[in-house]
Amino acid sequence: ELHNTLVELRGNIRVHCRVRPVLPFDHVQPASSEEVVSAISDDTVMVNCIKMGHNKMFEFERVHGPEDSQDAVFEEVRPLLTSLLDGYNVCIMAYGQTGSGKTHTMMGSHPLEAHLGTQQETQQGIIPKAAAELFRLISKKPAESHTVEVSVMEVYNNEVFDLLARDEQGNAAGQRRDVITTSSGTSQVTSLTYEPVCNASEVMQIISNVLKLRAHCPTLIHTDSSRSHLIITLTISSKSPNALALGERHWHTHSQTHTRQHQRPLLSRTLVTKLQLVDLAGSECVGMSGVSGAALWEVSCINRSLSALSDVLGALAEQRPHVPYRNSKLTHLLQDAIGGDAKLLVMLCVSPTQRFITESLQSLGLGTRAR
Ligand code: ADP
Ligand code: MG
Repeated sequence: ELHNTLVELRGNIRVHCRVRPVLPFDHVQPASSEEVVSAISDDTVMVNCIKMGHNKMFEFERVHGPEDSQDAVFEEVRPLLTSLLDGYNVCIMAYGQTGSGKTHTMMGSHPLEAHLGTQQETQQGIIPKAAAELFRLISKKPAESHTVEVSVMEVYNNEVFDLLARDEQGNAAGQRRDVITTSSGTSQVTSLTYEPVCNASEVMQIISNVLKLRAHCPTLIHTDSSRSHLIITLTISSKSPNALALGERHWHTHSQTHTRQHQRPLLSRTLVTKLQLVDLAGSECVGMSGVSGAALWEVSCINRSLSALSDVLGALAEQRPHVPYRNSKLTHLLQDAIGGDAKLLVMLCVSPTQRFITESLQSLGLGTRAR
């Protein structure tokens, strides 16, 4: 019995690793373009440590190599969508240095065009595929009624910005938001914008709009995408004539556990679950020497938020009673998506070449700590 409980606890955090192919830009420095990180089986990564004189192995729940398609990566993610409709919060986050394939894995090979046509389906990343799968699963439950809302946030310099917010003129403008702890002990972003959506293409339209604005109008969010964390949240509210079908304990009665300010009061027996999709800032080890002022602040914020994330994952893996969620805005706002009975998938993205070996070892180490 105890064994089962442990297995279940451990089952809530899974780590997958994707080693991307060697790409043309890796050959800019031919001396360091040698392939030293490889997926040697479907759960083991091998790193050639020439300096150390031996190879290092890392095991994860699933390992994808350079030849693995977007479809293959998503097949391992798909069961999480079922969990979402069964009443669990789910978080999928991509961790890795800039250029390791986080955005490729989360959004797809053409992130700004992710909302266009089905001909690119094989190129799509986890986010468009997860949105499609969510609405497919919903359509198979006609007895329940579901509403889905999208929010898009960016965490930059330890500040949370609502990327769907509008200014007084109605123009898109990232607005700063606060993260608070509610009386029920969960975290909540105040005044966050929730856009209702009816299908996956509406989800992707909203996300693509935000990414385009961000790419073309740097003053809007004032940042390079690799220096901030992007968090896309799908909030699903389900009502069923048969509460037991979704698990009694997950049903929220009235609004005490569901305190979004602008929302209509909830009818009883509404199940609210969240899917958080996170494209983290690049985890590269940026030296602090020679950096000063705003740039130094930016670097130290990224370092601190990623180490706060690592500390949270470590505390959960060791089952320590205190999990330090509140050491950064990133971990605080993801609190109900990491730990408890929420299901977290960390997708480690790793470059294969010698040039990035320090970063790759760091990412693989974080993934190992989380298990
Ligand atoms: P990150 O978001 O981690 O900075 P990107 O996702 O932007 O990295 O990837 C960097 C480049 O490598 C992009 O041009 C991307 O299309 C390409 N790339 C990443 N992963 C793969 C992959 N598995 N297969 C093919 N190309 C990839
Ligand atoms: Mg990226």
